[in-house]
Amino acid sequence: MAQPVTLPLRPTRAIVDLDALAGNIGAFRRLSPEPVRLMAVVKANGYGHGAAMIARAAIAAGATHLAVATVDEGIQLRQRGLTNPVLVLGPIGANETAVALRRQLALSVASSETIDRIAIETRRNHYEGPARLHLKIDTGMHRFGCTPEEAPALARQIAIDECLYLEGIFTHFACADEGDERPTIDQSIRFDACLTALAREIDLTTVIRHAANSAATLRSRRYDYDMVRLGIAMYGAAPSTEVPLARDMLPVMSIVSEIARVIELAAGDRVSYGGTFVAMASERAALIPVGYADGYRRALSNRGWMGLAGARAAVRGRVCMDQTVIGLPAGSSASVGDEVVIAGDPATGAPGWEVLASMTDTIAYEMLTGVTGRVPRIYIEQGSVVAIERLVDAESGMMSGEDGNR
Ligand SMILES: *Cc1c(COP(=O)(O)O)cnc(C)c1O
Repeated sequence: MAQPVTLPLRPTRAIVDLDALAGNIGAFRRLSPEPVRLMAVVKANGYGHGAAMIARAAIAAGATHLAVATVDEGIQLRQRGLTNPVLVLGPIGANETAVALRRQLALSVASSETIDRIAIETRRNHYEGPARLHLKIDTGMHRFGCTPEEAPALARQIAIDECLYLEGIFTHFACADEGDERPTIDQSIRFDACLTALAREIDLTTVIRHAANSAATLRSRRYDYDMVRLGIAMYGAAPSTEVPLARDMLPVMSIVSEIARVIELAAGDRVSYGGTFVAMASERAALIPVGYADGYRRALSNRGWMGLAGARAAVRGRVCMDQTVIGLPAGSSASVGDEVVIAGDPATGAPGWEVLASMTDTIAYEMLTGVTGRVPRIYIEQGSVVAIERLVDAESGMMSGEDGNR
């Protein structure tokens, strides 16, 4: 019987540096020491890095809690063997309550009806332990959350029901990544007042109070409370140009590929769909097997650049679904198989995630979460590959010589 054979990897791949992730958490710890707790936000497939792998590495580096946006994301972590506290940050569908409770996911609540529904469901099904709830307070974002005025009654509703456990009380900042800190200070003042009012109603000593996202965490200790919810900074991208990363925080993910073909362009030759690039003189160009279906945005057409041996190679013509052409820098002797860095640590000559985002009029969050499942994720720890996640698993029944060590 043929043994399953590890398939060769496509040249375009994401390198996820788990040591950088641990380093970023270490840098966070130098800003905000214990006893402030760390909730690692791994929603949207760990900001494109792979939720379960990132969750495991973050817990190993000191995070105590995990956060996701949807119940499915929480279940995925459970299926991958993570038993740590997981909070679903967003509102959930009524029909998702049962499975969320069965999987011991903590839920964010902001209305009496939802709390009732969870209590009824918990009583009916006798889950292990009470339902863990985090009361979400809207202090100015006007997205999800109850008003500060509603909070005391909701907290009491949870506290008096033995089926429910008030694990946390939290709010979310709307403008923490902007130059003007005033709106964030105002939101924290409203949160403080709300917590003071709540403390008159119920015992808050065991309740985890949390507010800060990455930007607030990077900005000031004022927003720490009992726990911070770290997303983008943990992945080594700055929340915005106004709020830079802490020193020693590094990008976790880079995207690399290889030159698939060298193209000799003559003056007047046009490149890619629509012929939007016209060579002014003869030039060497190279085909890179990456496109917008990998998350390399079409808006980078004729604007983006890739890192090639430390130099910049500009995108020529339109980015296609699966392929992109770059111009080779003058004098470059690059040939088929040479590595290009599509995104990653600017120190290597590649455009950083923030730069790619500003070139395409978006934010690093959208660039990172846009890296699609077609791009294999290679996880590196202490210099070695510790895991690979990709579309396909090992293939059985392959012919000899077809195996794929490359
Ligand atoms: C996504 C999210 C975070 C993390 O935000 P970053 O800016 O990535 O640190 C924190 N809290 C809530 C409620 C979120 O939705």
